[in-house]
Amino acid sequence: MNAITQPSAGAYTIIDHAYDVVVVGAGGSGLRATLGMVAAGFKTACITKVFPTRSHTVAAQGGIGASLGNMAEDNWRWHMYDTVKGSDWLGDQDAIEYMCREAVPAIQELEHFGVPFSRTEDGRIYQRPFGGHMSDYGKAPVPRACAAADRTGHAILHTLYQQSLKHNAEFFVEYFALDLIMDDEGACRGVMAWCLEDGTMHRFRANQVVLATGGYGRAYMSCTSAHTCTGDGGGMAMRAGIPTQDMEFVQFHPTGIFPAGCLLTEGCRGEGGYLTNSEGERFMERYAPTAKDLASRDVVSRSMTIEINEGRGCGPNKDHIMMHLEHIGADLLHERLPGISETARVFAGIDVTKEPVPVLPTVHYNMGGIPTNYHGEVLRPTAADPDAVVPGLMAVGEAACVSVHGANRLGTNSLLDLVVFGRAAANRAAATMRPGEAIRPLPDRAGEASLDRLDRLRHANGGTRVATMREELQRTMQAHAAVFRSSASLTEGVSKIERLWSGIGDVSVSDRSLIWNSDLMEALEYENLIANGTVTMVSAEARKESRGAQAHDDYPDRDDAEWMKHTVSYLGDRGQVDLSYRPVRMQTLTNDVQVFPPKKRVY
Ligand SMILES: Cc1cc2nc3c(=O)[nH]c(=O)nc-3n(C[C@H](O)[C@H](O)[C@H](O)COP(=O)(O)OP(=O)(O)OC[C@H]3O[C@@H](n4cnc5c(N)ncnc54)[C@H](O)[C@@H]3O)c2cc1C
Repeated sequence: MNAITQPSAGAYTIIDHAYDVVVVGAGGSGLRATLGMVAAGFKTACITKVFPTRSHTVAAQGGIGASLGNMAEDNWRWHMYDTVKGSDWLGDQDAIEYMCREAVPAIQELEHFGVPFSRTEDGRIYQRPFGGHMSDYGKAPVPRACAAADRTGHAILHTLYQQSLKHNAEFFVEYFALDLIMDDEGACRGVMAWCLEDGTMHRFRANQVVLATGGYGRAYMSCTSAHTCTGDGGGMAMRAGIPTQDMEFVQFHPTGIFPAGCLLTEGCRGEGGYLTNSEGERFMERYAPTAKDLASRDVVSRSMTIEINEGRGCGPNKDHIMMHLEHIGADLLHERLPGISETARVFAGIDVTKEPVPVLPTVHYNMGGIPTNYHGEVLRPTAADPDAVVPGLMAVGEAACVSVHGANRLGTNSLLDLVVFGRAAANRAAATMRPGEAIRPLPDRAGEASLDRLDRLRHANGGTRVATMREELQRTMQAHAAVFRSSASLTEGVSKIERLWSGIGDVSVSDRSLIWNSDLMEALEYENLIANGTVTMVSAEARKESRGAQAHDDYPDRDDAEWMKHTVSYLGDRGQVDLSYRPVRMQTLTNDVQVFPPKKRVY
């Protein structure tokens, strides 16, 4: 570390660093990018606000998708078709082709790194069926999810961390990234971070910054994501004048435990679990005659919500659905779903071998994020060039929108997205930069605006606690950007968000210290949450159709003529939003596969 200590804005101690590459985030995507960057010879720092193996990726349960064909015939083109269809034709087909084709070598690579996948009798990687993954262009469910029991994310994350250490990546653990450092030409030059342990400020100068900060599930009241999923990368990007894309598309997972919200993997239904209403009916047979309980997540979540709204919910308040696993048998549950058996016992007091579990759709994933191409390079579209790149900046993982998930992500495609595009970002850097190249100088006063922001929040002495503001935001998102949306509800949601912005100056932070100041950290996270929440609500209000996760009561049909396009949202510093649109990329990378033209989506 090359430390220069100097007093600066508000007399903060700033320590300067210079790296070829700085990765922000140590989840699956950040670690895969870090590992690839170091392996390509780049001096690489990985900054993370939590210890790497505590990133939310550790909680991923069910599996990672790839057409290995270990349990039944499979083909990457079928995987590509399912992903395009799952995305409700909002995904970019070149990026989807890239991901589904690269999936097979990516899993083989994970296996060689040492991921302890579950095995078949003959020693191959075990695969289970998952929602929306079908054989032969939509005929019948196919086992495509490569699993390490129901702890797949845990296995992958620990392996990637070990590999990163082996390659001597430099970790800055429990450092909170505050803001990007941009130059006058709009290129990214580095990032500011706060060391939570000793209160020092760190200015990282780098030729490439990679945002891998995960999703913003915590903008909602009930979600499956960790408390750390606060959309910090999106917040940083938007403060730097970089847009976000397709933010209206928020995935509800059908089976959050009622009422706690913790996840029960779709792998439960992949192993034969099914849903019933208060009449004991397996209602998914009515909504999705072919895929039934293994239809895609938006379809199952909507069907459950309709059952509840029509009075067929379970329990005294008729407000949830039941998921059955008891017929699978204790031995198999113990072998294949040990983690969810424990989760159901702890959070619902239920023994899954004996009785059904109460479940309800719960926010699970953000399809939207920082727009990138399939190399991981961040886009700032212009009228002349919808694919214009921001120099020096990449984004990967749930923080990014490549867009491979479009309007609805298929289960197992996020873990896949992490490793495929984490690797793609490193490959792109290796092709476009050289290790040890002169690191571009910082612009004048680099990082000062960021420290001013921190200083303002640190000394904020208004009348409203951060927790109160955050809860108000979460209630608003939960009520107005929900499974079903309507013009009236979204308009009300937008005006509630505007009110939250007008009250933002009244925030109170009571701890003035710089060491382990969780009060201040939550205030910084709140600014990121409201940034992400705002563009989500405004983008949803603007989209006058139903597609994937956006189910609009007043516009129940998909409208390809008008709306088969990505929403691009820019956020102003007082919460004002500017929307524009860019075309969906209806093209493939190679002649090995043709574009899948839009058609009606039935399961
Ligand atoms: C319960 C659960 C189960 C899931 N199961 C599956 C599954 O079976 N299959 C599947 O494909 N997908 C699954 N998903 C989705 C998938 O796990 C996530 O989308 C994915 O793990 C996100 O990875 P990531 O690398 O983008 O970010 P994360 O793993 O969320 O990591 C974010 C990283 O960024 C760092 N960070 C964030 N902000 C800052 C900041 N300001 N400063 C410094 N560091 C910062 C954090 O410290 C962390 O290291 C599941 C998700 C959940 C919540």
